[in-house]
Amino acid sequence: MTLDTIWVFAEANEGRVTSTTLELLTKARELADTVACVYAGDPDDIAEKVGEFGAETVYGIDVDDRLVGPSAAAAIAAAIEGGESPNAILFATTYDARDTAARLGVTLDRTVISNCIDLELDGDALVAVATIFGGATDIKTKFTGEGPFLALVRPKSFPPEASGGNEAATEELDLPDLGSAGGATVTDRFIEESDGPKLDEAAVVVSGGRGLGEAGKYSMVESLAKKLKGAAGASRAIVDAGWVPYSQQVGQTGKVVKPDLYIAVGISGATQHLVGMKGSKNIIAINKDPEAPIFGIADLGIVGDVHKVLPALLEALEGR
Ligand SMILES: Cc1cc2nc3c(=O)[nH]c(=O)nc-3n(C[C@H](O)[C@H](O)[C@H](O)COP(=O)(O)OP(=O)(O)OC[C@H]3O[C@@H](n4cnc5c(N)ncnc54)[C@H](O)[C@@H]3O)c2cc1C
Repeated sequence: MTLDTIWVFAEANEGRVTSTTLELLTKARELADTVACVYAGDPDDIAEKVGEFGAETVYGIDVDDRLVGPSAAAAIAAAIEGGESPNAILFATTYDARDTAARLGVTLDRTVISNCIDLELDGDALVAVATIFGGATDIKTKFTGEGPFLALVRPKSFPPEASGGNEAATEELDLPDLGSAGGATVTDRFIEESDGPKLDEAAVVVSGGRGLGEAGKYSMVESLAKKLKGAAGASRAIVDAGWVPYSQQVGQTGKVVKPDLYIAVGISGATQHLVGMKGSKNIIAINKDPEAPIFGIADLGIVGDVHKVLPALLEALEGR
């Protein structure tokens, strides 16, 4: 049994369709006969890529320089009130997608289930698996009543797999009058500069925590990440302390990473941190406390002082 139609709220960064969009499309294909995207932008820009991942149609929304949420939610709601009837709409856990899903939930009077890590079918009913208590417990919720069901899904919940489909057809959704909600505009964008791979795409991630002792010691984490051609991450403790920017935070309220290798340096392993990295293929933890919870999920544990272990590791890698 599958659903008739699922829409995926597609997003792109600097012209590239986001990995989470491709993950959602892959899952949507498994759950529904027909998959389409809604996109706050020119649908032609993404039609080829999302088509490769199974979208048959991209519905574009002309947001111009307005904030995405009010325009996207109003256009999608109008399309549904005008007769479109997707069983579900899947959103990534991004700012624009959350804003859109929330507004849509209110406009259409539908429940939004957030923090989903899986979606499954129970007969012809859609069931969302979501994490609560900082990732400590998973709960299943069955959507009932009238669709579309609205689900916000965490990144890296599904591996993206192309379907080999053709370029998607494109259509524009009508944009109703937004009233004062259309007044908020985007005036500027800042793209954080970084060299090396992006944190949520890197094959190797080295993250530092409070065990580093002071902000200046984070450079050891960066050096190790660079030597391993990886990205440097952080626990929230050192982000809150102002040692590193929020963009490097891994965890429940930061980024979700699933690298081949994750090295946790001076990180205790709180559930809110683990939820962002426990899907990594191999985990190495360096911590001076043999009872630290991080060792509970580590494949390899080094009980030791980071100020001794890291310099030794960097020296051993020197020239390699
Ligand atoms: C709603 C909510 C959301 C949250 N979201 C996140 C999130 O997204 N990401 C996140 O990381 N946290 C998050 N947290 C915070 C989380 O609960 C922890 O407080 C945080 O992860 C702890 O960071 P830490 O491991 O660096 O610090 P600590 O817990 O203080 O651990 C430091 C570790 O370093 C070890 N250590 C100390 N000195 C050395 C040394 N010289 N050598 C080796 N080891 C040493 C200690 O043994 C200890 O295990 C969240 C919390 C809440 C309530």
